Amino acid sequence: MTRVGLLTKTVTKSAALQDVIVVGAGAAGLAAAYALSRAGLAVLLLEKEHHVGEPWRRRHNDLHLNSHRALSSLPGVNYPKGTPAFPHKSVVVDYLNLFVRHHALAIEYGIDVGEVSLTGGHWVIQTNAGRRIARHIVIATGRDRVPYIPQWKGMAKFRGEIIHSAAFGQAKTYSQRKVLVVGGGNSGFDVLNHLAKVDTAHVWLSARNGPTLLPKRIFKIAVHLLSPLIARLPTKAADAAMAATQRLAFGDLTKIGLPSAAAGGVSRLTSEHIAIATDDGAVEAIMAGKVIAVPAVREFTQHGVILANGNLIGPDIVIAATGYRTGLEPMVGKLGVLDDKGVPLFNGGDHDPTLPGLWFTGMRPNVRGCFANARIQARAIAKAIVTSPRRETRQQRQETPPQPTTASAKRSEARTLSQPEQNPPA
Ligand SMILES: Cc1cc2nc3c(=O)[nH]c(=O)nc-3n(C[C@H](O)[C@H](O)[C@H](O)COP(=O)(O)OP(=O)(O)OC[C@H]3O[C@@H](n4cnc5c(N)ncnc54)[C@H](O)[C@@H]3O)c2cc1C
Repeated sequence: MTRVGLLTKTVTKSAALQDVIVVGAGAAGLAAAYALSRAGLAVLLLEKEHHVGEPWRRRHNDLHLNSHRALSSLPGVNYPKGTPAFPHKSVVVDYLNLFVRHHALAIEYGIDVGEVSLTGGHWVIQTNAGRRIARHIVIATGRDRVPYIPQWKGMAKFRGEIIHSAAFGQAKTYSQRKVLVVGGGNSGFDVLNHLAKVDTAHVWLSARNGPTLLPKRIFKIAVHLLSPLIARLPTKAADAAMAATQRLAFGDLTKIGLPSAAAGGVSRLTSEHIAIATDDGAVEAIMAGKVIAVPAVREFTQHGVILANGNLIGPDIVIAATGYRTGLEPMVGKLGVLDDKGVPLFNGGDHDPTLPGLWFTGMRPNVRGCFANARIQARAIAKAIVTSPRRETRQQRQETPPQPTTASAKRSEARTLSQPEQNPPA
């Protein structure tokens, strides 16, 4: 479905060869579409779901933002009056929908993008509803698209449950259960913050490295509001500022059994893309002995988990808070633009000159949070595209109708102009 709105006319007129196609209508894709359309480009947003905000909707029901409302908005639209400082995920879903309506962004829903390739100078985009062609493609499909669980030795024979933190569900269902949380990052601490409020039988936290952990508030000040300042500091100074805040809030975490951090918070964020964790009750639970910090997982047995120190523990359920992958291999794997974890080698205004017109956004974490970062990346991409030699002026577009450069592109254009092809991509 194409929404009727500000961009609809342009979309219909140049449906065959788009200026820009943005893939994914999350915070990053919406911010990019807005910035690009403000820069005078015809933008089409393709979204595989039938609504905006599905990734947020699917997350567990107790989830509130760790990022402050003031830094969790997109351009031109504020949260409604009375929104709490750390909004519930349902408020975020409503907010993203409000953003789409306010800016009348043109979104085609139910379009699942498959492989993209540079053919005859244009980006050919395979989808479940036929091919699309664009001068520029901005991929905004999210960095936490595919839950990732490491392959531990023996896990197949384990009689308990192993789930990913993405499937956490409701905290109360863990009542009287023995739970092992693996991973002390943002998701691991989110799970622990909720388990801390439930009468579990036992909770272990297995972490290879100590976390970079910040409280939601310190002396009644929302710590996230300081993130734009931290983001402007050189990495070493930002690491030191975070470590000092952590120590001020919690003291020395190694004294309650957590390992020391492998590196500073901003260093790990930049080099390993590990987001900063937020405490909202977990540390108190560790201090009270309700959560026991244990070493890394070595292997599973039928009835338990052997830790790196050789100790055996017996959880009923293991929650792997072990991160996500982008799942971008089928889309761009052949282009050689992904690292060994599937993270694009460039993001925002950066690009590969041998692949002109290919852009990524939302593929790196940032201390400011995903919304503020989405705005920054969106502006950078819009600026880079507007100044790029691939940018055709509106006048040129009127004088020269876009010519498909290959026979297949010609067929594709004819199809897109009349009606989208029904067959899924090969
Ligand atoms: C538990 C948890 C809590 C979090 N809390 C916070 C927080 O408090 N503050 C914060 O700033 N960040 C938070 N994050 C991170 C944040 O959710 C993500 O970084 C954010 O959603 C990124 O937005 P995005 O637009 O990049 O990706 P997404 O929100 O994932 O949007 C990507 C969109 O692309 C679509 N899509 C995917 N594949 C295709 C395809 N093939 N074709 C077409 N469309 C496709 C998806 O349906 C989706 O709508 C949290 C993450 C998790 C897991």
